[in-house]
Amino acid sequence: MSTPNDPNRSVFEQPQAATVAHDEMPPGMNAAGDRSFFGHPKGLSTLFFTEMWERFSFYGLRPLLVLFMTAALMDGGFGFDRSQASAIVGIYAACVYLASLPGGWIADRLIGLRKAILYGAVLISLGHMSVGLSAFMGSRVPFFLGLVLIVLGTGLLKPNISAIVGDLYPEGGARRDAGFSIFYMGINIGAFFGQLITGILGESVGWHFGFGAAGVGMLLGLIIFVTRSQKTLGTLGLEPTRHPDPAIQAKQEKFGKLAVGTGLAALLIVIVLAATGGLELNPQGIAANMTYVLVGTAAMYFLYLFALGGLTTDEKKRVGVIAVLFIFAAIFWSAFEQAPTSLNLFARDFTDRMVGGFEVPATWFQSVNSFFVILLAPLFAIMWISMGKRGKDPSSPIKFAFGLFFAGLGFLMMIVAANQVVASGGIAKVSPWWLVGSYFFQTVGELALSPVGLSSMTKLAPRKFAGQMMGVWFLASAVGNLIGGRVGGHVDPEKLEQMPILFSRTAWSLLIAAAILALLSVPIKRMMRESSAAKH
Ligand code: GLN
Repeated sequence: MSTPNDPNRSVFEQPQAATVAHDEMPPGMNAAGDRSFFGHPKGLSTLFFTEMWERFSFYGLRPLLVLFMTAALMDGGFGFDRSQASAIVGIYAACVYLASLPGGWIADRLIGLRKAILYGAVLISLGHMSVGLSAFMGSRVPFFLGLVLIVLGTGLLKPNISAIVGDLYPEGGARRDAGFSIFYMGINIGAFFGQLITGILGESVGWHFGFGAAGVGMLLGLIIFVTRSQKTLGTLGLEPTRHPDPAIQAKQEKFGKLAVGTGLAALLIVIVLAATGGLELNPQGIAANMTYVLVGTAAMYFLYLFALGGLTTDEKKRVGVIAVLFIFAAIFWSAFEQAPTSLNLFARDFTDRMVGGFEVPATWFQSVNSFFVILLAPLFAIMWISMGKRGKDPSSPIKFAFGLFFAGLGFLMMIVAANQVVASGGIAKVSPWWLVGSYFFQTVGELALSPVGLSSMTKLAPRKFAGQMMGVWFLASAVGNLIGGRVGGHVDPEKLEQMPILFSRTAWSLLIAAAILALLSVPIKRMMRESSAAKH
């Protein structure tokens, strides 16, 4: 491990000088020295609360979707069958994250991060309104149209709000990691309350009250962003990256607008055809093929960057590291995003949920993860900073390996729990502590990987690709959501033997991935050290 002043320090271990000036800092605004929000720049508070409300709305809506679509028509639902409804939710969640790639690109090349966040928040709010109002319109079209608007809006908001967090810490290093840990806490405060509040409203008062509450949340986030960003973010993220040659810039803008216009027109045609019955969409079929689409998109995107991205050798090495982190993140999320699917069903069907005379709703287990994040994120922030001060901050591949390892431990616990169920022939309801323990270890893993991943993207991304690289990061989540959705049905009282197999495959994939990445971290670190040393 190098010392803080070692000129050979890699990008993973940037020094923490708190005074480095940043190209994009507005005059008189030195975010690196600003410590007014829990020791962090005040711009972080704006991003924290905007993202908190966005996640409140996202996680508030997601668990309601399956319940609503599978509810009988007489109960106000759509009466869809279980596998169709969960395939739709899998596609929806995957699209939400997939949209981050074009969303990041639009911000980088056309409108800048700030406008992208603003337009995103407006679209998400409109989307929730459309979903909420669908009940009063006697048609399913506004419901699905609302989901499409949320996908488009989240694609614009999510990667770019994360990228701008990185901009608050021009000095990089452990303080930036710590900033992302705090930001991540905001995400989970939103998720925790979103799941609790909209769940209660949606299930016991009326579906559309739940949807409405999620929409109100996003509106609050929008108001916070509009009123606070000018004061707290200065000029950060106002401008897209421009090509130095105005002629090339104009050409690129024209191409960009054409591409966005064509994409939107194609989407509109599909929506109109689907709404008028001219096109039959089969959710299960789409979900099955979408994995290939996502993996293919990632492969093509990295190839494009290497071949045509105009990157320097140094930047290529960094993007190579991003590609490695992407693969391991996709493995992590494929396990982690089983929370709303297989683990949710395990809570419902095989877990003893009685406390005194009260049966804890299965969906409440969804909030256990957020609860642990809120509890543990500050500890992680403190840990990274104190390790950084001693020059002992581990590299991001090492942190990722820990993340995979702890998530692996979480799924090992589920193997034991699943075997107890199988041994009883499916009759036993196991202790809720198995799930709680599993979520605890998964959360420890998540905190070592997810906020660190966000932070690493901002450190490793070539500046002009900041938003897109965040889009790539979320593409890993898209893969995870889809796979998590597709294996969820393996928790089934009719086919008990599938369950321990699913959990052991998941656990061993995580543990083996952790070991491989730990080994890979050595050459990666050497490579990055050489690349950053080359610049000195
Ligand atoms: N829970 C985190 C969030 O909502 C991470 C989700 C993910 O990237 N899969 O931002």
